[in-house]
Amino acid sequence: MTRIPAATAPSITRPETGAEGSGFAKVFGFLREQLLEGKIRNGDRLLPERELALQLGVSRPIVREALRAMSMLGVVEIRERVGTVVCQPDISVLGDVFAFSLAQVPDVIDDVMQARIALECQAIRLACQRATATDIERMREALDVIEATMNDADGGGLADFDFHSALVRASRSDTIVQLYAAMATLLTRSHRDRRRAVGGQGDAIKRTVVEDHRRLLEVIIAGDADAADLALRRHFHIGDELRRQKALAPAKTAAAPAAKTRKSKEETS
Ligand SMILES: [Zn+2]
Repeated sequence: MTRIPAATAPSITRPETGAEGSGFAKVFGFLREQLLEGKIRNGDRLLPERELALQLGVSRPIVREALRAMSMLGVVEIRERVGTVVCQPDISVLGDVFAFSLAQVPDVIDDVMQARIALECQAIRLACQRATATDIERMREALDVIEATMNDADGGGLADFDFHSALVRASRSDTIVQLYAAMATLLTRSHRDRRRAVGGQGDAIKRTVVEDHRRLLEVIIAGDADAADLALRRHFHIGDELRRQKALAPAKTAAAPAAKTRKSKEETS
């Protein structure tokens, strides 16, 4: 009778706020701060567990648990007889996290696509100013492969991915490149799915895929950031449209044709 309704119970339940959780957060926060402030660097050895526990006012098991968790992330390495050493984590760990998210929340791919659009639009703007001859060559090579693999979903998906990776590398921004690399697993899949969707379409859309990438390369060479941003957004828009059509395909509803007409207009505007 006085019980909290089941529907609202989860929002007020916070299992992580116990003493252990806050102790862990303390150790984690302390090390993060030290790293960000540059007080500890790659290769430095941390204080022994006992001293860390004393300094932070938490138990040794909590310190040990936190360090072990951080070693899984690659932030530190626990070396026998040496102690805990600070490392630079491999960014591909993030890719694994994305992959786990995807496995559990199917819709996450669309959200990752939004992040990709944000990253890549800034990347192409930077590429307009910073792309080197090597970057251009890399994109040109990927474009040739895109053209040659138009009827091969796997090879074509990979070539498409290579083209966009080369584009992002041309931004010469390490952070963008690393974040993009972290999404690599998911992006490869989305490129392949998209190419499979294109595979079922006519020659016109296949030609559009090639021409789209050629246009992206041209605007980068021309160094026109606004045109590049626009061309890239249009390119993503076609992908959205293909995914949408695929989603509607199994059960065509009455609303589908109207929505399609509206989308097509947007696309050609
Ligand atoms: Zn593409």
